[in-house]
Amino acid sequence: MRALVTGGAGFIGSHLAERVLMQGHQVVALDDMSTGDADNLAHLNDHLGFELVKGSILDAALVDDLVEASDVAFHLAAAVGVHLILNRSLDGLRTNVHGTENVLQSAARHGTRTVLASTSEVYGKSTAPILCEDQDRILGSPLVKRWSYAEAKALDETLAFLLFSEHGAPIVIARLFNVTGPRQTGRYGMVMPRFVDLAMRGRPLTVYGDGSQTRSFCHVYDAADGLIALAEQPDAYGGVFNIGRPEEVSIRELAERVIRLTGSASTIRYVAYAQAYGDGFEDTMRRVPDISRARELIGFDPALCLDDIILSIVDEFRLSAWARSGGGAARPARPRAARSGGGRVR
Ligand code: UDP
Repeated sequence: MRALVTGGAGFIGSHLAERVLMQGHQVVALDDMSTGDADNLAHLNDHLGFELVKGSILDAALVDDLVEASDVAFHLAAAVGVHLILNRSLDGLRTNVHGTENVLQSAARHGTRTVLASTSEVYGKSTAPILCEDQDRILGSPLVKRWSYAEAKALDETLAFLLFSEHGAPIVIARLFNVTGPRQTGRYGMVMPRFVDLAMRGRPLTVYGDGSQTRSFCHVYDAADGLIALAEQPDAYGGVFNIGRPEEVSIRELAERVIRLTGSASTIRYVAYAQAYGDGFEDTMRRVPDISRARELIGFDPALCLDDIILSIVDEFRLSAWARSGGGAARPARPRAARSGGGRVR
């Protein structure tokens, strides 16, 4: 099988590429390297079944060639991260609308099985105790920049659904809930690598707002397994599935856990939303996925709990610090949970 992974040099894309290769398939990663990182793929470059194509999903002809040549496409390329969306909103909107339109139209044209990576952000400000796929969405004004990401992704979902229902395109939608793990960068806003980085440097962890807002984090190994399983299940096409792990944690508690698990002397510093993101910012106060639909159809059962997830990132930070130091000191021990972090390969 030949798989296309758009956004293949990114955090989730690189893990997905790796897992598909491990299953004995060929992988073409398409990435414009805007937020992707060649280092994420360095270990795959010599693999005979792997190819990196540097290009944009906005290049319709390139996308069409690659989708046509693939049996399956994982569409992960997108402008993501709250800070990035706020700072480069128009570019983000264009990429997330037109780029995805290119991928999905090509998938429909060539009948290529496609997984569209969407986001829990489409649920917006809902404070429901658990979010299931058919839930109403509660979004703020279209003029609040944060929601431009949710607007674009929701439009992508509608396009995918219409291409399926009117043209039989084999497209399935995955709504990802705060996927995190090794290789994720905090540069564009993601809280987990930012907290681990600050804790390991003994700096104060910056909790935005009062920290009572909650999220549910899912390890990238588990999420990648879910995406692969969805691609392999024809009954999933035309459907939307939450992919996440329903272990709810407040951001304040997350900061405390990261400090505890790293053994750090860091403190917590509370930062007003306006200071962190500018005036008029609206946060999502609660986000927990109902994953029963994915569990029933593909047996989705994310294995790695929050502490495993944090420890796997700590492990990565320690190893890269050790490598940067020239590897002179003793190699850091791997935390127990991170050692078991290989997830399952179906
Ligand atoms: N957050 C925080 N400190 C940071 C980065 C983020 O307190 O350094 C908060 C952010 O305001 C949000 C939560 O952590 O409430 C998750 O943020 P992230 O950007 O990782 O994901 P998203 O908001 O898209 O779920």
